[in-house]
Amino acid sequence: MTTDLRTPSRPIAGTAPADRTGVATHCAYCGLQCAMTLTGSTAEDLTVTPRRFPTNRGGLCQKGWTSAELLRAPGRLTTPLVRRDGELAPASWDEALDLVADSLVRTQTAYGRDAVAVFGGGGLTNEKAYQLGKFARVALRTSQIDYNGRWCMSSAAAAGIRCFGLDRGLPFPVTDIGSAHAVLLLGANPAETMPPFLTHLVRAADAGGLMVADPRLTPTAAKALDGGGLHLQLRPGTDAALALGLLHLAVTEGYADRRFVDERTSGFEDVWAVAAQWLPERVERVTGVAVTTMRATVAALARARDTERGAYILSARGSEQHASGTDTVTAFIALALVLGLPGNPGTGFGTITGQGNGQGGREHGQKADQLPGYRKIDDPAARAHVAAVWGVDPSDLPGPGRSAFELLSALGTDGGPRVLMVHGSNPVVSAPDARVVTERLAALDLLVVSDFVLSETAAVADVVLPVLQWAEEEGTLTNLEGRVLRRRRALTAPEGCRSELDVWSDLAARIGCSTAFSTDPRVVFDELRRASAGGPADYSAVTWERLDAGESLHWPCSTERPQGTPRLFLDRFATRGGRARFVPVDHAGPVEADDAAYPLVATTGRVLQHYQSGAQTRLVDELAAAAGEMFVQVHPDTAAAVGLDDGGTTDVVSRRGRTRAVVRLDDDMRPDVVFLPFHWGGDGRANSLTHAALDPTSRMPEFKACAVRLEAVQ
Ligand code: SF4
Repeated sequence: MTTDLRTPSRPIAGTAPADRTGVATHCAYCGLQCAMTLTGSTAEDLTVTPRRFPTNRGGLCQKGWTSAELLRAPGRLTTPLVRRDGELAPASWDEALDLVADSLVRTQTAYGRDAVAVFGGGGLTNEKAYQLGKFARVALRTSQIDYNGRWCMSSAAAAGIRCFGLDRGLPFPVTDIGSAHAVLLLGANPAETMPPFLTHLVRAADAGGLMVADPRLTPTAAKALDGGGLHLQLRPGTDAALALGLLHLAVTEGYADRRFVDERTSGFEDVWAVAAQWLPERVERVTGVAVTTMRATVAALARARDTERGAYILSARGSEQHASGTDTVTAFIALALVLGLPGNPGTGFGTITGQGNGQGGREHGQKADQLPGYRKIDDPAARAHVAAVWGVDPSDLPGPGRSAFELLSALGTDGGPRVLMVHGSNPVVSAPDARVVTERLAALDLLVVSDFVLSETAAVADVVLPVLQWAEEEGTLTNLEGRVLRRRRALTAPEGCRSELDVWSDLAARIGCSTAFSTDPRVVFDELRRASAGGPADYSAVTWERLDAGESLHWPCSTERPQGTPRLFLDRFATRGGRARFVPVDHAGPVEADDAAYPLVATTGRVLQHYQSGAQTRLVDELAAAAGEMFVQVHPDTAAAVGLDDGGTTDVVSRRGRTRAVVRLDDDMRPDVVFLPFHWGGDGRANSLTHAALDPTSRMPEFKACAVRLEAVQ
């Protein structure tokens, strides 16, 4: 179960040829946005070569290496589909767009603007994320827009804004982590989700300072142990208690950075009033993490800090995807603040973004409460600024809408949206309590899905529009460090496919909107720059020309900061007074209790070969062959108690549904926990089990803990 940090999945270092011609771009998938060169002129002969770049240092994972296969996978959609007599049938673009436009107008005339909703994705380019938000607010004039990033980064984002005044996943370049001797990972498993990231953890691992808090002994946690580091194997949903316990120890063992706390923060006493109650022995009882392990964790962080060898705390979905996710990240930020890590060179707190444009996708208007530049939609000054860029009256802009799950669960209800347009998302697989979401999609008058393959959501749509994918489009993405990157076209799309920018421009005209929607991504980006100017995520001095010239530009990048801002908070935090905020929070625990009927806690996550709902990676033969079936990871004693053995088939059953999976026994699992990957639909859909208890601030669902039992299938 070990992973070599230096060879993430295939040989990498030194293999990127310097003189090879081709198109320099970035990976189709996750937020690390590894650099690659695409060579060839057709989908059939296109090849991928890793390219040296700070985030991936010339490496790719198996998903990146095989990403060209996506372009030649069978099932690529090249013609619009319209449901007739219950079946999806080919149609012309005019037929399909007329049908959609008629439905949009008819529905809004009869039921009001908010009867039409839009659902976006964290993989859309910045240009598309921006234009989708504008299309919703200006062409449709609906408040009902949100996106799947709500289920990915929203709790970390909310905590960052709460404590630092700003949300940027990593407020420092990822390469800074590479020199650290102590790194605490919270619910992150980059050995499988983004293997090239491991190259930044080599030094910490070699120094015995890699520490991983995770209910499972993941390959990342195993690597930590191999190097003499730590695995904090906590019970799912007890992350906040762990944070408060570590904070308690940091103070009582004398590791607090009193000067930093005094000079650069506010509110410590309020947090200490809570953390003082979390004695280490109490934390051990709640989390299952030994006091000695917690003590060693804070000591390692403090030692690396004091010897100027670098100390970082990084959170990810394992600690965030809970109904108390915002408070949990807030508690870990408090730990980082006590230790004096944020806002100093060589130390820090950050969050590892999951989706390809997880950062940029949450900055430019796909969120229900947001306008471009990370502005708030209920801020009069923000509305006036953006309305001026869009050439509309601020009073015509709708207000905040429903968050992702709330939007989907309102579909087809009295007063809820009756038409939904989906872009870059597959909620039939990825939504919490997905059975309910699937029922609500079926209750719509019209479901329109833009995709390049027939995903599980496209398969139940009334209209499917074939759009461009990754290597067929131009644009920008913003990676996990807030660095803006160019995505470049390597291929001409198959005849019949159109850009979503074309779709929105055409539909806006068909429904009678007088505002022009450009179909040129460069023009859209220039407008985004103007719309973001002066906002928290200010892109105004980023241009495609500068990016094409090889400049590395982290936002905010404006006339005041034309070289961008690789490191945030060095002088002051982005709060009103410039101080980071300690915010008192307490441990709440999972919403759903286990009991005699459902005695286990199920937690979900990803495997090396698949990306998110798997709609793309399941099409790649090499990936499907390596990871083709749904499984559940179980401790042998847990399996034996219900008559299951390795390789057997089980139904995992929760209060909401059941999922069929092959049993994988693992001695290192906690006996009270099972793990399920969430990359498959149908009978193997993990999200048939999960529930949608939402974080009160971020509206993040609790993907990471639900009560289940195992039933052997004969
Ligand atoms: Fe890099 Fe992520 Fe692509 Fe893997 S999936 S090659 S880690 S960007």
